[in-house]
Amino acid sequence: MPRKHRAARERAGPAPPADKPFRAAPEWANAGGASVRAVSGERSKSYRCPGCQQEIRPGTPHLVIVLDSDLEGRRHWHTPCWRAELRRRGLA
Ligand SMILES: [Zn+2]
Repeated sequence: MPRKHRAARERAGPAPPADKPFRAAPEWANAGGASVRAVSGERSKSYRCPGCQQEIRPGTPHLVIVLDSDLEGRRHWHTPCWRAELRRRGLA
């Protein structure tokens, strides 16, 4: 039995720092005059994605978009939906 090997694997994987819920968004996402953050998704909260009108389930990693033209309005997008939106606008 490869017990040593297995134990090492179970310890692998960095835990995200608890005090930093935001990560830098991927380079491609920062287009179109918007500030983009990647979030890991709150455990208890779901959001409506403006791209597909579907729910972003609690705990789903996704993007938070703040348009420069609408600093009050934060929008939560599925990552692939935001990518598709940028393509629609000819920005990606
Ligand atoms: Zn979506």
